[in-house]
Amino acid sequence: MITSTTTLVPDNPAAAYAAYRQAASAVFLAGTQGLKYKKDHYDLAVDLSKAGMQYIEEREDDIVIGAMTPLWQIKISPVIQEFAGGAISKAISDVADKNVQRYGTLGGVISGKAPFSVLLPILLSLHVDVQLQDKGCMSLDDYLYCPPMGELVTGISIAKEAVYTAYKAYRKLPA
Ligand SMILES: Cc1cc2nc3c(=O)[nH]c(=O)nc-3n(C[C@H](O)[C@H](O)[C@H](O)COP(=O)(O)OP(=O)(O)OC[C@H]3O[C@@H](n4cnc5c(N)ncnc54)[C@H](O)[C@@H]3O)c2cc1C
Repeated sequence: MITSTTTLVPDNPAAAYAAYRQAASAVFLAGTQGLKYKKDHYDLAVDLSKAGMQYIEEREDDIVIGAMTPLWQIKISPVIQEFAGGAISKAISDVADKNVQRYGTLGGVISGKAPFSVLLPILLSLHVDVQLQDKGCMSLDDYLYCPPMGELVTGISIAKEAVYTAYKAYRKLPA
């Protein structure tokens, strides 16, 4: 597991990101499923557990999920199970390591940009925007191709429109 000289537990994303940026070396602590295998030392560890980023909200046009939402919570969410044929829930079930399913967070998966991820391909097939503290939002596709920007992922939004549009187009096909 990584070590740090200081650990902060900010109560909002803006404070978390400000502290992270000011330190000479810093890391975010999310579900620690990736970090527990590392041995690096940082001046600062920013624990995101109290920063208010654990939520799943269904809105009229999209579903918004906070970065600190654990994968298991996304998997069992009725909103997510009903969306896109339950594809996101099924992808999380395919994460072989049960500790990653249980403790790993959405923000950890997104920021990790792992080529072997079972979840990222499903999200890429949908219309997903990544929300970044102080930097606005960008499409997941663009985000995955960006070099590391020292960013804080605060959440994602998944457009419902893309799925409904495809469904409507399908229904209009002649018999
Ligand atoms: C054994 C194993 C199996 C795995 N299998 C899969 C798999 O099947 N599919 C898959 O998709 N992934 C898989 N992963 C990768 C896993 O999703 C990542 O390790 C992920 O980072 C874990 O999330 P976490 O919340 O535990 O992150 P942490 O371990 O807490 O953090 C990891 C890194 O992400 C950064 N970070 C965390 N949250 C944020 C944030 N909100 N904004 C910016 N940076 C952040 C931290 O600074 C740190 O550098 C696996 C990992 C392991 C170790």
